[in-house]
Amino acid sequence: MAFDLDAAIRKIPDFPKPGILFYDITSILANPEAFSYCINSMVETYKDTDINAIAAIESRGFIFAAPLAERLSLPLILVRKKGKLPGETLSKTFDLEYGQDTIEIHKADVGPGQTFLIVDDLVATGGTLRAAIDLLTEAGASVKEIFAPIGLPFLNYSEKLGDVPVRTLIEYD
Ligand code: 5GP
Repeated sequence: MAFDLDAAIRKIPDFPKPGILFYDITSILANPEAFSYCINSMVETYKDTDINAIAAIESRGFIFAAPLAERLSLPLILVRKKGKLPGETLSKTFDLEYGQDTIEIHKADVGPGQTFLIVDDLVATGGTLRAAIDLLTEAGASVKEIFAPIGLPFLNYSEKLGDVPVRTLIEYD
């Protein structure tokens, strides 16, 4: 029988704002069987593909991307908020609902010949992932697929991410 991932995801109403139902992945991390299920599913999915690098979105994406990169012996590139990476960076500014945000990668670690999987914990509007795709592409790499354990397709992420396949383990409407 398939693992019941839904039962392992804590749902918090009205967080961070009234009317939003927050899908909390800390309850996956606190449940070793659930976390193993996620990582093993990712390993099975990506072990025999032509993906040769993994990009992780700050901060919860790091948690799922790091064990995958180690298990598949692939380079792990961190996509961080502005000002966090110490070396020379490439950056991308993108629009949020209110205001803007900037993400960065280390310039020396990304370039032609890399075929990326981008990992986050949850795909909502896809805005951050869109910026990450554009940043990696501008650096000369290609982005093959996006993975997050949780997807919220009702927030229409496919509008922003239509050119890159998105894979999830569970979706909520
Ligand atoms: P997007 O750019 O797709 O709109 O935003 C996705 C980001 O917001 C992800 O990095 C994710 O961590 C965070 N996020 C938005 N809603 C939720 C939620 O319900 N649960 C979790 N764990 N993260 C969320």
